Amino acid sequence: MVGVSGVRGIVGESLTDEVAEQFGRAFATMLPAGATVALGWDTRPSGPMIRDAVIAGLNAGGVNVVDLGIVSTPGVAMMIKHLSAGGGIVITASHNPAPYNGIKFMTPDGLNLPADQAERLKNIWQSGKFTTSETSGTITQNDQTHSIHIEAVCGIIDVKAVAGRKFKVVLDSINGAGCVGTPLLLEKLGCELVHINSEPTGEFAHKPEPISENLAGLCEAVREHQANVGFAQDPDADRLVIVDENGKFIGEEYTLALASAFVLRQQTGDLATNLSTSRMMDDIAASAGMKLHRTPVGEANVADAMNQYGCVFGGEGNGGVIDPRVVLVRDSFVGIVLMLNYLVETGKAVSELASDLPKYEMHKEKFPCPPEAAEKILLAVREAFSSRPSAKINDADGLRVDLPQGWLHVRASNTEPIMRIITEARDAESAGKIAEEVRKIADVARASRP
Ligand code: MG
Repeated sequence: MVGVSGVRGIVGESLTDEVAEQFGRAFATMLPAGATVALGWDTRPSGPMIRDAVIAGLNAGGVNVVDLGIVSTPGVAMMIKHLSAGGGIVITASHNPAPYNGIKFMTPDGLNLPADQAERLKNIWQSGKFTTSETSGTITQNDQTHSIHIEAVCGIIDVKAVAGRKFKVVLDSINGAGCVGTPLLLEKLGCELVHINSEPTGEFAHKPEPISENLAGLCEAVREHQANVGFAQDPDADRLVIVDENGKFIGEEYTLALASAFVLRQQTGDLATNLSTSRMMDDIAASAGMKLHRTPVGEANVADAMNQYGCVFGGEGNGGVIDPRVVLVRDSFVGIVLMLNYLVETGKAVSELASDLPKYEMHKEKFPCPPEAAEKILLAVREAFSSRPSAKINDADGLRVDLPQGWLHVRASNTEPIMRIITEARDAESAGKIAEEVRKIADVARASRP
């Protein structure tokens, strides 16, 4: 599977050492001769094999590699900038299960490849026409990622004030890339750390996606240790979710919402998020007198909008926060420091800060949909909802309709023949009703002849 965020597949099936080497060679073909690439990987057992294959491909194309070791995705992005590298690569399949791995490519700015460059990379790979260099590229090691990353994130908060509080924190790093750097960060912030799933072995102790059903262990540890807060990272440590002081998972949408609320106390400026993210973000921006820019789904789209509109903060509702003062990719370290500083500054508990935000309930579902039916369905949903009082339409990515009582977002998946419906309203029942209405319209549209 080759998408905007890179290549991802099951190791030994769709993602082999041969494919990895070809992508190394394809990326080298895109870069100027003698370029340097910063490269890191998460803790998956297949990491070293994919790494060696990608490096072989890069070196064959004359590209020099700076090997960062096991580091987070935002850590690689930081180092690309720090080293003035010509690009970056992370070997990770993010939140996908252990049999998967992936190769994620980054620009010299530490951003995910924009769609046109991702397309170009794919075309070069498919053509098999790679540049071959007479002189092989070099490999050097660099172990500075954690310290440079930690220094950067500490630069956006009041470290002294946070350290003075001596928070008790439970951290679940899912035996992933967050295992090494995150405890160093929390140590610098004076926290008493209970670290679970803390060995960088890549043996995931639970399903790696940081969502409610996978976090029972973290919730229990927060209660058992009477901690102030619990944090969970995904395997490449770009996403973060939060458990409150009662051991209750507050929901992945709250990472971005709480961090945004805090940042708008620090600074003035606009926010950006994707079309599937909670209305809490509209409320937070509005109450500070700022604008929220909505983008198509995908981290790169949010980063683009942040660049374009000079946003002070942004991210995605899946626990991905982006602070341009650090780097323009999702960063769990940023979420951690902002949350802790927010607790200090307000003197409130996590549960209080969460309940200070307007309360919404989200509803998510998907249904099978052949690609050729998607257009018809979107048109029918648009027709049905656009005449509603105060309906606001955004068709930048599928269709989002904002209504006074809630909103809906319908879009076809890029990777599977399905459509996703996300709705949100003041309570679960109302959110479910909006989704039901959408589904009925979709059923009729799909059955109708063109
Ligand atoms: Mg991730």
